[in-house]
Amino acid sequence: MTDKYAVIGNPIAHSKSPQIHQLFAQQTGQDISYESIEASLDGFAATIERLRNQGYKGCNVTVPFKFQALQLATKPSERAQQAQAANTLHFNVGQIIADNSDGAGLIRDIEHNFGIALHDKRVLLVGAGGAASGVAAPLLHSGAVLTIVNRTASKAMELSRLLANPAIRTCSFDEIHSQQFDIIINATSSALQNEKPALSPGIFAHSTLAYEMMYGRETPFMKFAREHGAAIVTDGLGMLVEQAAESFYIWRKVRPETAPVIAALRQF
Ligand code: NDP
Repeated sequence: MTDKYAVIGNPIAHSKSPQIHQLFAQQTGQDISYESIEASLDGFAATIERLRNQGYKGCNVTVPFKFQALQLATKPSERAQQAQAANTLHFNVGQIIADNSDGAGLIRDIEHNFGIALHDKRVLLVGAGGAASGVAAPLLHSGAVLTIVNRTASKAMELSRLLANPAIRTCSFDEIHSQQFDIIINATSSALQNEKPALSPGIFAHSTLAYEMMYGRETPFMKFAREHGAAIVTDGLGMLVEQAAESFYIWRKVRPETAPVIAALRQF
């Protein structure tokens, strides 16, 4: 029998997750269906209840429900607790198991797809919202030397406090104008306003990886990084596919090949 999965968000029409999971299913021979479902802003819990009653095996969760998804869990993973948010729910004999695959997706894209080991790398994480808090702990676990900067400085400080790691630095945009970083990750939603964070051009070294978490188009941050000498500039499509592969593995215990799926999505 076909096992049912879905991604839930609001809005959700833009989501590439159904396409990605269909490609994973074809490749691995797993008998699953995967659809996108838009929940009303006050209807997330009811949607999860309906899916469980209808025998769905799990779902992905995206903006703005990742925090609620963790609250609904009967069994949250350590990764979800550290991120304070869940993007993957697994419905298992009466339990709602919550996990967060965003951090693993980013790490795998950087380390495996780009071949850059994070250990001892100077990493600047720009942003302190949901995406940044999902990747900060996994970056630390990979051995990155982490600096967090955010437009609203108090949120960067709060994220750092929650991570409770004395090695993390938080600072304002003004304080980092003369430092260089090996990896600069734009985890802000600035591109949605066609803007970039207030970064100084001097932070890019000749070997810097500039990583934009948004995907699908060249953003102002990517253009800025290219113009100021970053060695590699990428969007977050690889992270998107890798976090999906991690979710697929959580549900099916089968790890799909991601490279052909990333390549296929770049064609569309
Ligand atoms: P949130 O709304 O939780 O956080 C937004 C963050 O962006 C805040 O830190 C906010 O700063 C900052 N910000 C917004 N506008 C600007 C601006 N003009 N200049 C500087 N900073 C700004 O969003 P998320 O964290 O959920 O998402 C962030 C991005 O990551 C999105 O583009 C999303 O698409 C992407 N993403 C990609 C994934 C992937 O798999 N590739 C997975 C998850 C997210 P402040 O605190 O000052 O408001």
